[in-house]
Amino acid sequence: YGDFNQKIDYVFKVVLIGDSAVGKSQLLARFARNEFSLDSKATIGVEFQTRTLTIDHKTVKAQIWDTAGQERYRAVTSAYYRGAVGAMLVYDMTKRQSFDHVARWLEELRGHADKNIVIMLIGNKSDLGTLRVVSTEDAKEFAQRENLFFMETSALESTNVETAFLTILTDIYRIIS
Ligand code: GDP
Ligand code: MG
Repeated sequence: YGDFNQKIDYVFKVVLIGDSAVGKSQLLARFARNEFSLDSKATIGVEFQTRTLTIDHKTVKAQIWDTAGQERYRAVTSAYYRGAVGAMLVYDMTKRQSFDHVARWLEELRGHADKNIVIMLIGNKSDLGTLRVVSTEDAKEFAQRENLFFMETSALESTNVETAFLTILTDIYRIIS
């Protein structure tokens, strides 16, 4: 954690998108600072956070962008997507509507972002197992059809968060290097 005084080989911009309250900001807090808060207002206004890591002996700075509460339809501007090489499209597996909106977010993303952008679909809040309304199978099938990576995570319990970010960053590295 933290950026050291070292030579950066690559900077990868990755954007977080998806409905409000699905856990985007907490996924970022978990990945960038290993923190979690039940207070959703805790990180509002933060544009992006970075974490520097090593992939294949290269120093990669991941610059992860978070929507500052602009999740209303079409409120996310093209500046947000500009230069992004990766996107995490997050839904809440306990909220059907957030999954129903994934197709819409994908359309927005594909309209604004580079055509080679690497996209990962994330079903967050796996710790709330009994409240689940979106099945793993449905999400996996959607992801396969749309050519997206897919993972279920819990920012609260720290399940798969590191794996999800490392998977997308490694794939970006594979494409770019
Ligand atoms: P955002 O609007 O997509 O950025 O969502 P937030 O990150 O602000 O999270 C919205 C709410 O869901 C907050 O109360 C978080 O504490 C909570 N939350 C986020 N991730 C998880 C998770 O993995 N599990 C549970 N149980 N709650 C979560
Ligand atoms: Mg947020």
